[in-house]
Amino acid sequence: MNFQQAENKWNKNPFLLKVIGMGKSYFVKTPWWLKKIYPKRLWSIDSVEKNIYLTFDDGPHPVATPFVLGELKKYDAKATFFCIGKNVVAFPAIYKQIIEEGHSIGNHTQQHLNGWKTDDNTYLNDIEIAAKHIKSNLFRPPYGRLRSSQAKKIPASLNSTTSKIVMWDVLSGDFDQTLSKEDCLKNVVNKSKEGSIIVFHDSEKSFSKLAYALPLILKEFSKKEFRFKSL
Ligand SMILES: [Zn+2]
Repeated sequence: MNFQQAENKWNKNPFLLKVIGMGKSYFVKTPWWLKKIYPKRLWSIDSVEKNIYLTFDDGPHPVATPFVLGELKKYDAKATFFCIGKNVVAFPAIYKQIIEEGHSIGNHTQQHLNGWKTDDNTYLNDIEIAAKHIKSNLFRPPYGRLRSSQAKKIPASLNSTTSKIVMWDVLSGDFDQTLSKEDCLKNVVNKSKEGSIIVFHDSEKSFSKLAYALPLILKEFSKKEFRFKSL
């Protein structure tokens, strides 16, 4: 079995994912061995400085994104927003506001496609369409699901030789309907450390948890003298 076949097998096995994710189909804290399997993808920032990297996926959203921007401003915090191309088209003023307030943006495909379920041409084409609206060398695959064959061609789709595939160190779990808002907060407070890249969603589905957890996370990590930086 070559790497490609092994990867396909692993990608298509939800049972295996559940077992290694200990009952969930995802890891709150990315295990070291998963980072080793995909060493070129960015999982965290190697630094001893007390910086953490908040990221917000799936916006811009007319309610959630302005809320996030307002909370970040209170702490002079910078973050990274992985935007869906079609949402940038729908809410251009909010997209512009993200950039004007000094945050980073990244490409999260045009239609929020799942790389494991989409053929390479369709997937890469969707990134190219999003790249017309989102000028960035950063890319985050929706659901974190990306084949190696797709990953290789992303620099061309982004039209950037300095492209970076950004994954994460900690998932807040704000998208998980089985988690409480307190669980989300605990996930981030207990698992994050210097250099962590942390995932939230500025989306309808996640908003009630985000609205609870984000202000407390900003407060808690500021108290511990962390700084919030963009990628
Ligand atoms: Zn997403």
